[in-house]
Order: sequence, then structure tokens, then C-alpha cells
Amino acid sequence: MQKVTQWRKVAQEKRNRSTMKIAAVQANQVGALLCPRCGFHCLHHGRVTIFERQREDSDDLVMTVVDRSGTATSVADARSDNPSDRRHGLAIAFECEGCGEGIELTIAQHKGETHLAWRLSP
Ligand SMILES: [Zn+2]
Repeated sequence: MQKVTQWRKVAQEKRNRSTMKIAAVQANQVGALLCPRCGFHCLHHGRVTIFERQREDSDDLVMTVVDRSGTATSVADARSDNPSDRRHGLAIAFECEGCGEGIELTIAQHKGETHLAWRLSP
């Protein structure tokens, strides 16, 4: 259990250093997502990253990345950028027509809830 706690702390520190998290996910009146940086509605999604745990708090994390060509690559990587500290997570990369790349929509399981957020690269 101590190993899991230590890994979680390292993963959180990494996320805090390299990204900014925005919890408010907004859409316009027709349901189009709005860019968290500039508010523009033209977002193109690309790479999808899936984080799968065998059980809650497990450090047996499998990360599968599906790139824009549809190629899937799976790796066992306990030190990933899983948006969920304890369970499964998803991250969908976006490119905004207004301000460019470096945006991810994240979906994280947390205590029975599903949390949506944006993650921005510097
Ligand atoms: Zn933008």
C-alpha cells in the first residue's frame, strides 16, 4: 500500500508541474465544447488515451493510446498521467482552431462519480 501512496504522490506532483487543470467544462447553446483557453467552439479531437486499472488503487495500470490514424498502443505504465488517482480515466487531446494544441479533456472515475476537466499543457 505504501508503494501505491508514493506513486500517487509522484504522479500528482508531475501533473501539477506540467499541466493546469480546469474543472469547468463548458459548451455553447448547441452543445459544442468551448475551448478552455480562448472560448472558441472549433475543437478537433485527436489522440485518445485510456487508463485501465485491474481494481481500485491498483498500480497495475494499463495505458492504451489510440492516435489519429487509429493505431492503438498499449503499455503497462504505473507512472502515467491518469486523470484518476484511484480508478480508470480517459484523456482526449484537442487542437483548437483559435489557439492551437496542448488541450486535453479528461474523464476520471472518483468514488463512484465521473469527473470532467480540462488539462492544459504549458
Ligand atoms: Zn482555443
